[in-house]
Amino acid sequence: LWAGARPELEALVGTNNYVTWLAPLSLRAIEGGAADISCPTRFLSDWVSRHYSRPIIDALSRQGAAVERVSFTVATGRPATAIPAAASPAPSAQAARARAPQRDDEMSAPLDARYTFDNFVVGKPNELAHAAARRVAEGGPVTFNPLFLYGGVGLGKTHLMHAIACERRARDPEARVLYLSAEQFMYRFVQALRERTVMDFKEMFRTVDLLMVDDVQFIAGKESTQEEFFHTFNALVDQGKQIIISADRAPGEIKDLEDRIKSRLSCGLIVDLHPTDYELRLSILQSKTDQFRQTYPGLQLGQGVLEFLAHRITSNVRVLEGALQRLFAFASLMGREIDLDMTQECLADILRASDRKVSVEEIQRKVAEHYNIRLSDLVGPKRVRTLARPRQIAMYLAKQMTSRSLPEIGRRFGGRDHTTIMHGVRKIEELCAEDHGLAEDVQLLRRALEA
Ligand code: ADP
Ligand code: MG
Repeated sequence: LWAGARPELEALVGTNNYVTWLAPLSLRAIEGGAADISCPTRFLSDWVSRHYSRPIIDALSRQGAAVERVSFTVATGRPATAIPAAASPAPSAQAARARAPQRDDEMSAPLDARYTFDNFVVGKPNELAHAAARRVAEGGPVTFNPLFLYGGVGLGKTHLMHAIACERRARDPEARVLYLSAEQFMYRFVQALRERTVMDFKEMFRTVDLLMVDDVQFIAGKESTQEEFFHTFNALVDQGKQIIISADRAPGEIKDLEDRIKSRLSCGLIVDLHPTDYELRLSILQSKTDQFRQTYPGLQLGQGVLEFLAHRITSNVRVLEGALQRLFAFASLMGREIDLDMTQECLADILRASDRKVSVEEIQRKVAEHYNIRLSDLVGPKRVRTLARPRQIAMYLAKQMTSRSLPEIGRRFGGRDHTTIMHGVRKIEELCAEDHGLAEDVQLLRRALEA
């Protein structure tokens, strides 16, 4: 009966609300017109009884049950989330995730079990953010408040926040850890206004030990939500409770955010996740490949393919993951290892989309500027070493960063032959492997061009 009521409920209240509030519930019994609902926490049962009794009655009635009331039993033992997924027809992906084993997460948004510290690959661009996240996850005295994490899309902000929540809950099951997006914060606030439950709303937020609000830029321009957020924030800071905020840019850069909020957000520790570099992308790919191999045993992607992906898909880690996933699926269909040609074919759309719009001319300009030589010399015929090396670097970057063919690149280097370009590209590849300084230089130029 409950299995049938679940999708009804989800349809009635929307997937987000369902996942947040109702997925952890189960039906114990129906007796004398009352449905006895099992609920993992008191907190949740209060909230659900106040806000969702009606939809629960409706959903059960539609299943043919004679229900007029709901009562709640707080079952602290085995959480009600442990319902086998198969019991519910066509569970949404989100709802399925919510059913993964979870601690008493009260009103927190569901956590993705894959987003742990163990699964987070650390490299130069994210090491600071990672270290700060680790520190906060350990608990202990609050040393910086808030921790403000910012960075572009798909660089691991949400992953880190979930990892913090998991770790903190594992270390201290009593701690009230609350993770939600700024959008959910606003949604709940508006709902509380509508339903005249603002006091509950305030109470709820002000009694947490660790509050994490993801993508705070969302509340920019939303005045009453900002106001409420500001008060919540202050109340928690005053009580010495840790707050973690993420955004897609630094506090000062968020438009339409009140100054007092900007300055509040800036008074803790601000760390940014830098765009990934080649090394980090490659380690992430390697780590994900190891994970995928558990799903697709026996399949392997060649190192060349991984390097190619790390070079070509620079936009964000989510896209990188998607590409890898597709390759593994493809490889398992074909029943064999995938080479570069097939990779290019299989990922043509992704590669096109992530093709950096860097031109050969831009690369030449940047390289000339970097080595302090004239552009005309860079593409000209002179063979002195001080020119030849930067020229080869420019050729290498042109090959790596644009989709121009060797002859096309040759034409842009004063009409050189494609074999000359190929030689230059190979030379730099070789040198990079042994000359760390040069490799760094090339990396630096690449990053400057990508920015
Ligand atoms: P953001 O919130 O910054 O937009 P996410 O945290 O959602 O980014 O990350 C996007 C995807 O990339 C997620 O699947 C995440 O697990 C993965 N990811 C990002 N950074 C890393 C990393 N350093 N190691 C492993 N996976 C990562
Ligand atoms: Mg995110």
